[in-house]
Amino acid sequence: MTDTTFASLGLAEPLCRALSAENYREPTPIQARAIPSLLDGRDLLGIAQTGTGKTAAFALPILQQLAGGNEPRIPRAPRALILAPTRELAIQIGEALRVYGRHLGLRHGVIYGGVGQHPQVRALARGLDILVATPGRLLDLVSQRHLRLDQVTFLVLDEADRMLDMGFIRDVKKIVAAVPKQRQTLLFSATMPADVAHLASAILHDPVRVEVTPKAITVEKVDQRVYFVDAADKRKLLVALLQDPSLARVIVFTRTKHGADRVTRHLDKAGIVADAIHGDKGQGARQRALESFRAGQCRVLVATDIAARGIDVDEVSHVINFELPNVPESYVHRIGRTARAGAAGIALSFCDGAERDYLRDIEKLTKRPLLVAGGQAGHSRPAAGKSSGHGKPASSKSRPGKSGGGQARQGKPAQAPRLATEDGQRPSRPGRQRRRFRGQQRRRAA
Ligand code: AMP
Repeated sequence: MTDTTFASLGLAEPLCRALSAENYREPTPIQARAIPSLLDGRDLLGIAQTGTGKTAAFALPILQQLAGGNEPRIPRAPRALILAPTRELAIQIGEALRVYGRHLGLRHGVIYGGVGQHPQVRALARGLDILVATPGRLLDLVSQRHLRLDQVTFLVLDEADRMLDMGFIRDVKKIVAAVPKQRQTLLFSATMPADVAHLASAILHDPVRVEVTPKAITVEKVDQRVYFVDAADKRKLLVALLQDPSLARVIVFTRTKHGADRVTRHLDKAGIVADAIHGDKGQGARQRALESFRAGQCRVLVATDIAARGIDVDEVSHVINFELPNVPESYVHRIGRTARAGAAGIALSFCDGAERDYLRDIEKLTKRPLLVAGGQAGHSRPAAGKSSGHGKPASSKSRPGKSGGGQARQGKPAQAPRLATEDGQRPSRPGRQRRRFRGQQRRRAA
């Protein structure tokens, strides 16, 4: 517990009252660090993901400043614009605004694609103080003159990395160009690939930078094992493991969208019901996949990291890292999908010759070596799905390039196949996220 209260951050009584009704006892770290600067009018670069309390971190200061400004509401011309990549997130933000702002008398609206536009047009015409929107529908309504952006003084880009991953970069740039230069701008992103960093430096003015890592996920509860396996044998190993019915509800993580599709096809051929969820899938398809996974109709969900952020499913029995993430924090987030609500989860990671550095980074972060469930570091492995060396720690000694004659010395390390990131680019260095997002990625009007 800290002594920081919402009031001590400078938030007014009506907001504090709403927060205490929600049982928010104290600000989360991102709230404690962001709110005072935002109330001072500073721009903000927030490196944080869902679960950190970032929505309140941006919503509260905006609500307070708008309520204090007492400016008249102008039809079709909101003063705050919050951009979100998906309809679900937009709705969630709208709900947060309703809850936090319930004593303020401000009006907000949420617009997104995939539904009729008339109710949205009507709400805009009545006048809104705050608009939450997905980029595609927003630009549609601007081009039809149902909406103008010339009164926007607060601009928030939420989940910027996901927005760019979904192909919204051009839309976002158009929107930024259409809002006045005199404004307060906030950008939130869980990761900082180069495109997001460029965007941030182009649109933020002398921003306060707040970086938070979500509360340590209870990785201790997760039984974590690694299979050393050749890249070419991973699919066989996956199918072999899935013969075991105790793998009841499984999320398989790949690093690339194409990888996710390939694995899903392979599982389908092997008679295992699987669905993929990644940035190239439309929102409807993602939602359907999630629902059938949640309902137990689909046993295996194959996901990329960014797409996986919206997955909130209990009783995931196993997480399988078909490919290790090049950002070690992603490993922690991935395995946190199992062992929820006190359940004992299991995380199995496939590590090929090119992924040893990623494994080392992960073990450095989690401060515990993974147990070896199959294969040996530095060896080509038969993908029988049988365990060998069960329970041995995958100590760093066993990795090539390290001193000591561990298992790695017994065989030639596998030639590193070039690993691709989610959009098919090879990262220039392991342990760093290097992603380039390309405009031709399918754009969706979310
Ligand atoms: P977010 O990261 O904004 O998606 O928030 C994650 C969850 O934390 C939401 O369910 C919020 O209602 C909740 N939350 C946000 N701030 C606080 C807080 N200070 N105390 C308790 N819960 C919070």
